[in-house]
Amino acid sequence: MSAPIICGGSVYVRAAGQCHGLCGKPDARLVIAYPESGWYAPIVYCECGDMWGEEGLFPRPFARGWRQRKQTQFVARWDTAHPEGTKPVYDDGDHMLTGVKVASPILDAKETP
Ligand SMILES: [Zn+2]
Repeated sequence: MSAPIICGGSVYVRAAGQCHGLCGKPDARLVIAYPESGWYAPIVYCECGDMWGEEGLFPRPFARGWRQRKQTQFVARWDTAHPEGTKPVYDDGDHMLTGVKVASPILDAKETP
């Protein structure tokens, strides 16, 4: 099932998985940002404040308190992100984001005969 998407920007989806940054937790809380264009790889934000993409860990800012700020941003992203299992839907032609396939155990259960 597809749902309409709010225009512009990335789609944020909750996940649990391996941190490739500071905390190194195997089951870290992650938010995956799928970009508007399907030509670009998603960016992963970890609860510890680190982020990475297909080319590895992003550089850490040379600024006092940056990790605390990133962790605060993470909580805000987590609170508004789509539930785990949500998939972005890209247009076949220009590969632009057209919607999301929302993970919904309740709806899936109703669709099962
Ligand atoms: Zn981490």
